Amino acid sequence: MTNCLRNSRRLLSQHHQARLLLARPSQQVPTSSTRFHHITPQRQPDVWRSIPAGLSSRHVIKHRRCYCCTSSPPSPARCCRWYHDPRKVAALSALATGAALMAFRHRYLEFVPCTNRAHFVVASPRSERELGESDFAEYKEKMASHILDPLHPDSVRVRLIARKIIHAAYRGLGVMDHDDAVMLRVTTNLDQAGKALGPRPQTTHLRGLDWDVILVADSNAGATAMCMPGGKVVVYTGLLDDPFTDDDIATVIAHEVGHIIARHDVDIASRKPLRIFRLPHSSQRMEAEADYIGLLLLGAAGFEPHIARAFFQKTAKMREGPPTFRDRYLCPHPLDEERSKFLSQPNVLGKALEPYREYTVMNILANRYFR
Ligand SMILES: [Zn+2]
Repeated sequence: MTNCLRNSRRLLSQHHQARLLLARPSQQVPTSSTRFHHITPQRQPDVWRSIPAGLSSRHVIKHRRCYCCTSSPPSPARCCRWYHDPRKVAALSALATGAALMAFRHRYLEFVPCTNRAHFVVASPRSERELGESDFAEYKEKMASHILDPLHPDSVRVRLIARKIIHAAYRGLGVMDHDDAVMLRVTTNLDQAGKALGPRPQTTHLRGLDWDVILVADSNAGATAMCMPGGKVVVYTGLLDDPFTDDDIATVIAHEVGHIIARHDVDIASRKPLRIFRLPHSSQRMEAEADYIGLLLLGAAGFEPHIARAFFQKTAKMREGPPTFRDRYLCPHPLDEERSKFLSQPNVLGKALEPYREYTVMNILANRYFR
């Protein structure tokens, strides 16, 4: 009986406290402006001092940092939601960001053949090809009156050299047949057991490319060439003038094919949002990379690799005067002297000599037994 009375009094007391809450709505109720401030027990609004049924004082003390309560006192279920705790929100955000970065890396990170340089390429091979086709069609329309006929002797000469290099690229990189990839074999780091270290370089973008090599008579272009994504190569007639030879033409075309193998155009396009990385130094590094891949291509195509060094020595002598500040630091290409020096280094030239030896031996055997 006594317990019943005590319980009745306690219930009445709780009921009285609840009525007090309803009767004092104008008290210092946390508003949206006070939502995120730190509420200490000393600063608790009056409305919290009267603890409603189902909410113990221990709970209020435990959850004194409340971020959600506005016009109503906190409930245990409401205050225990994870997204009300900024530390949990921050930890989850960090996890989500890390997962997104990992997914981006897995999807877009590629390794350049021969140099094994890692780079992010956002464009797919298909969109790269479409971009190249579109640019090439536009260029041909603009230069229609300067493009030499495909059956012109000079055009045939250039295309025969280019075909040799392109075939060497497909064979040397194992694009169609992974068993015979001499260019990858000599440039891949191996462990003690002879197993390749690191992931396989990206070569799938070369499959099914519609290669096209044209010769353009443009006196302003000089002895040079250029390439576009999707296997499009433009050679200017200045490269056919004296003192340049077939070896020089092969060196320049191999360099341009090296750009296409390394996907430099889409690499640059992928960096466009980060303009800070579009520095001459970055372009010069890509040029050196194309030089290196081109050197290996020359060897794999049966051209003596020393011709690349000789070409840049020749062009360095043709330059009028010493190199200017612009030539040295602001030009996208390294100095010809530096390119010649780089291609003469034993660890660079030696890589190209191996495919050249293999090509020479195979050629000798083919001529002996299959003529
Ligand atoms: Zn280049």
